[in-house]
Amino acid sequence: MSSKGLFADIPVDVGVVYEGERIRSQQMFVELGGPNEERKFELVQARKPEEIEDGKFIIIGPDIKDMKEGGHYPLGILVEVAGKEVERDLESVIERRIHQYSNYIQGFMHLNQRYDIWFRLSKDSFKKGFNSFKFVGKVLQKLYKAELPIIEKIQVTFITDPEKIKDWYNKALEIYEARDARARKLKEADVKEFYGCVLCQSFAPTHVCVITPERVSLCGSINWFDARAAARVDPKGPNFMIPKGELLDPERGEYSGADEAVQKKSLGGVKKIFLHSMFGHPHTSCGCFESIAFYIPEVDGVGIVDRHYKGNAVNGLPFSAMANETGGGKQVEGFVGIAIEYMRSPSFFKADGGWNRVVWLPSTVKERVKTAIPPELKDKVATEKEVQNIQDLKTFLKLKAHPVVSRWPPEEAVAKVPTAEAAVTPEAMQPTVATSTITLPIGGGGGMGGYRLTLKNVKIVAKKLILKKAK
Ligand code: SF4
Ligand code: ZN
Repeated sequence: MSSKGLFADIPVDVGVVYEGERIRSQQMFVELGGPNEERKFELVQARKPEEIEDGKFIIIGPDIKDMKEGGHYPLGILVEVAGKEVERDLESVIERRIHQYSNYIQGFMHLNQRYDIWFRLSKDSFKKGFNSFKFVGKVLQKLYKAELPIIEKIQVTFITDPEKIKDWYNKALEIYEARDARARKLKEADVKEFYGCVLCQSFAPTHVCVITPERVSLCGSINWFDARAAARVDPKGPNFMIPKGELLDPERGEYSGADEAVQKKSLGGVKKIFLHSMFGHPHTSCGCFESIAFYIPEVDGVGIVDRHYKGNAVNGLPFSAMANETGGGKQVEGFVGIAIEYMRSPSFFKADGGWNRVVWLPSTVKERVKTAIPPELKDKVATEKEVQNIQDLKTFLKLKAHPVVSRWPPEEAVAKVPTAEAAVTPEAMQPTVATSTITLPIGGGGGMGGYRLTLKNVKIVAKKLILKKAK
């Protein structure tokens, strides 16, 4: 694919070898989108053939050559496609390929997706003459047509004008929301198969996204419908069908089919995954997760930080430091990359307690997912506005009687209870024993004969503990 033939009119090389290329700030000519720009997006829309002009590029606002070296600019990319088999269901997947294809360009880096895109162009590539969006458009157009022959016509618009991007940006947000909303109606039990994606293996070789109706991809841009449509039209592409197989663990979300698929697609690197737990065998994380769920041992709770959050999360670590721990295709217990949308899933970390276990998240994220937080927990989940460190978090959780407090050892739960005692529920003040398995002999004495009662994942709350020597 790096054959100069197809890309003879592009001033830099184009090929798979450039896919993992990183461009540091000292090497960059300009940055497009990214954390310094409020508005940025990439959007694919299916059109009727007569609505677009094949091979047309429209640039609204300054082109690359008009930009200042070292500057950052807003960028919206609208890719309009048409073809007999092009349907709306394919829009997300075609959209996600922008990531792959634009990264094939030497000296051009694309990160993230949807409203989070972040491009950098290197000084070297700019000097070689890569100074216009029309080159990006041409590469996209050629690769789309070569790799997804269902696309018969393609028109690309680049918007860098800070005023003109506003309307399209808002429209794009509505479209993303509508896609997510559609998938919310479906449950894992309603379908026979899941879908996988290995597009990110170029960065994270053992990473396999397992996409179910209750778990959107961690990049947030491919849901079950999208992946299904992609696997149908491009069976040799990065998306594939995963037969569900047997439900091995309904709480953690372990399916024999998903285990087999991740084993195969990670070439044995990953043996099994729990779709809905961050412990044991959590889902792998590549690098483009929208947020990170991180375990906070001091409070036995879960924090969430998104990639826009500036500064340190409640555990004292910034997103970037945790992203290094989490990403790369590893399975890291207690650190999992997730999409914001996954927080709306009815199965959101259900094995770990779901929202009952979430103790901290940025206020912007809390606002975005507020309708998914159970009403009784809304005030109990802290944000950076209330709490900035673990000690304050403990105090806050006790004061609010957050459900995690009942998981704490008794002295922790009652020690230094703030004066606002009324706010602490009786449960929080009772001694608690949290244990995974208890086996008790019943009748028959000492387990000889009689029955054994086994309690798994139990939590015992006792008002009084009486120990008596048996006579
Ligand atoms: Fe595919 Fe997952 Fe990467 Fe998204 S994060 S592009 S779904 S592998
Ligand atoms: Zn990824």
